Amino acid sequence: MNEVGEGPSPGSPLARLEAARVEVARLEREVASASCAEVGHRWRFVGGCAYDCETPGCSFAVHECSVCGDCDYDDNEEAPKVRAQCEAFGHGN
Ligand SMILES: [Zn+2]
Ligand SMILES: [Zn+2]
Repeated sequence: MNEVGEGPSPGSPLARLEAARVEVARLEREVASASCAEVGHRWRFVGGCAYDCETPGCSFAVHECSVCGDCDYDDNEEAPKVRAQCEAFGHGN
């Protein structure tokens, strides 16, 4: 019978890996419960959005914070470029 449960020897790569996993899990719990002001928004991709334009390519990626529900629609790096391109093409009005 094999004796299981002693765990890897201290300092071994396996032990360090397990310690790192524990640390990651701890940080994930910490970040999950932290406010957006503390750690920033947890953006998740919610889809493409467009400025009153149906033309494919005139949409930009929009993200929503999974914690506070904030949306980067008005604070989006891609949005102004897409809007400029859309206006340059003379789409919409
Ligand atoms: Zn947020
Ligand atoms: Zn357009």
